[in-house]
Amino acid sequence: LLAADGGVAPTVFAEMSALAIATGAINLGQGFPDEDGPREVLDAAREAIATGVNQYPPGPGMPVLREAIARHEHRWYGLEVDPAREVLVTAGATEALAATLLAFVDVGDEVVTFEPSYDAYGAVVARAGGIHRTVPLRFPDWRPDPDELRAAVTDRTRVILVNSPHNPTGALVDDEILDLVVELAHRHDALIVTDEVYEHLVFDGVHTPIATRPGAWERTISISSGGKTFNTTGWKIGWLTGPAHLVTAVLAVKQYLTFVNGAPFQPAIAAGLDLPDRFFADAAAELAARRDLLVGGLRSAGFAPSVPASGYFVVADAAPLGEHDGEALCRELPHRAGVVGVPVTAFVHPERRDEVRSLVRFAFCKRREVLETAAERLAGLS
Ligand code: PMP
Ligand code: GLN
Repeated sequence: LLAADGGVAPTVFAEMSALAIATGAINLGQGFPDEDGPREVLDAAREAIATGVNQYPPGPGMPVLREAIARHEHRWYGLEVDPAREVLVTAGATEALAATLLAFVDVGDEVVTFEPSYDAYGAVVARAGGIHRTVPLRFPDWRPDPDELRAAVTDRTRVILVNSPHNPTGALVDDEILDLVVELAHRHDALIVTDEVYEHLVFDGVHTPIATRPGAWERTISISSGGKTFNTTGWKIGWLTGPAHLVTAVLAVKQYLTFVNGAPFQPAIAAGLDLPDRFFADAAAELAARRDLLVGGLRSAGFAPSVPASGYFVVADAAPLGEHDGEALCRELPHRAGVVGVPVTAFVHPERRDEVRSLVRFAFCKRREVLETAAERLAGLS
């Protein structure tokens, strides 16, 4: 099931989506919405295609989008970002991550992430020849132990990679931990890379971008994407922001990965970023209601879910159902209950798999009726 060691096996998400299609099960595995986002964004893409925005955009991204990203950073976080030199548009957050890690990680350099961690991190670090060190997050509150974080970061650390809001746990990293990351990055001369693709999907508490913490900006690359915020995961419009010299180094790598991408989608995501606050608040409120639906359904079915503060996913313990092997359960679930989930073992190194053995991740970025049906089906499990 696992490619997190940099292997070339299909990702767990591809595997589970294929299983959902093959069995006709409800796909709560891979995180993608099952309905379209705001009309303004879709219309802007149609308009761009119809008016000839169909050739290679500029290497760092179209000015209209880079400027919208800079405005967005100022409006939500008070950051002053120069759209000409401190913003780079990428083929999704995925390319932003890959280009950033390939730019900065040399053979033998260490990259520290929290674990469980999104599968791309370990895979790209391995491709760069780096070493992936992890700091455990433990079910059900997922807060890292500051001493374990201190122990993981050394002079061998090139990058501390933060992911908040976090996939798969939905946890927000609090300011105390963010500040410790900044302090350790300074002490060991490491860079900070932060993956904030779920920045607007926050239900409880607030999301603090690490780049806003004192001393962080000068050594931080911040990554986000239009996919989650505007229900356009297939458009693959992502971006990163940071000090010009770091952004330039990433552009040097990015130009030979994709060069550029998604011309007509760039002005469309720009239109999305300029939507009024109401849009963002409503989207988060709707997703919070869906979270509650799925959390409730999982509880009724006998799982012990951890309630996510943010994001697309809930991690639930299947042990109370007598199910102790999440991988086996995920293989059987489509047949036994017509639902697909992803085992949390896919997000951890082999030596930690036993700790998360009975945990399963379910996505709630689906229409309410789909979640209700999934909950009914899961209720038949026990
Ligand atoms: N980072 C995290 C934490 C994600 O969950 C995802 C996608 N699900 C990505 C990056 C990739 O984003 P994109 O689709 O924009 O490449
Ligand atoms: N990030 C999404 C998830 O965690 C899926 C992305 C992918 O399929 N690579 O489900």
